[in-house]
Amino acid sequence: PFIIVAIDGGAASGKSSTSRALSERFNLLHVDTGSFYRAVTAELLRLKLRADDLPAVRAAVSNLKFGTRLNGRSAQMEINGRVVDSEEIRSPGVNAEVAHFAAISEVRAALLDYQRGQTTTGRKHTFRGLVMEGRDIGSKIFPDADFRFFLFADPVARAKRREQEGREDQVAKRDTLDHQRLVESAQGAELIDSTYLTLEQVVDKISAQLAT
Ligand code: C5P
Repeated sequence: PFIIVAIDGGAASGKSSTSRALSERFNLLHVDTGSFYRAVTAELLRLKLRADDLPAVRAAVSNLKFGTRLNGRSAQMEINGRVVDSEEIRSPGVNAEVAHFAAISEVRAALLDYQRGQTTTGRKHTFRGLVMEGRDIGSKIFPDADFRFFLFADPVARAKRREQEGREDQVAKRDTLDHQRLVESAQGAELIDSTYLTLEQVVDKISAQLAT
């Protein structure tokens, strides 16, 4: 069987490092859905759109064609045939706007089937399953996932992590905008507080369950 591991959590909660490590350890396709919202945001910003111009955003989103390319063990989004630059999707401009675009229901709807369809990508490349990270994976994308985890960490730990990455990002502000989705995805998931755990300890904790 193809296993599905859902990892939800706030900004800088450790989701990406954890998911990447699990993908290695268990031969799972790594799917970072935040990178999809970021790629769409970068594209909409490139088209000079603002998140409060709903009619224009809706029209633009309906014209985007999504594809997937494998980047190592990770699914990388293509929009209208091209990969959005990986530096660009982590830029301060995208950091500041992504949660606003992600709050638009048509943007979320446009990505729904695309995200579910990553099982096809995973099977095609003979992965044993996928590990998908985001804000609504266990609640909306794969409510029947084999495993559902919710990662969190206190604000000091999160600020430190982002500082080490050296990028400007208002983590708390994004979590406020993402709050409802965070509440919903935490429900029914196993909660893991990573504040005082190393990455390895978090990965071991989850691995112990996947291995059974
Ligand atoms: O995971 P990351 O912090 O890169 O996600 C960027 C933003 O994309 C989040 O702050 C959130 O607004 C949005 N997002 C979302 N649903 C997901 C993943 C990300 O709304 N499943």
